[in-house]
Amino acid sequence: MQILLRKIRETESPFSIEENGVRCFGKFWRSGKHRAEIEGKIEGELPLSCDRCGEEYVEHVEEPFHVEIVDRPLKVDESLDVIECLDGIVDFDAICKSEIASIQSEYHLCPGCRDKDEFEIEF
Ligand SMILES: [Zn+2]
Repeated sequence: MQILLRKIRETESPFSIEENGVRCFGKFWRSGKHRAEIEGKIEGELPLSCDRCGEEYVEHVEEPFHVEIVDRPLKVDESLDVIECLDGIVDFDAICKSEIASIQSEYHLCPGCRDKDEFEIEF
């Protein structure tokens, strides 16, 4: 799903994208002449890899996110949650994919290693 930033209205509109059983949904609106915001949530069974043993596993994830999109060059002091789209096209699919990728790149332990962790803390 792609929408021109200048066509995004100031009133909130809903969106929902689903890919491989993972849903990305929420709302978006325009918050300035060159600025739009997306508030959404990633929800679904996400393939993750354990940072301790390297095991691949699938876990149910519910992760909210909030990004701003601007169609002008970013200022140096702008936060990491601001996405630059100089062609003025807000690409929801790409934004959802990058949100999913950032969840996957966080530190994860598989259920087995998590159990071991608790064991070590107790003793
Ligand atoms: Zn593990």
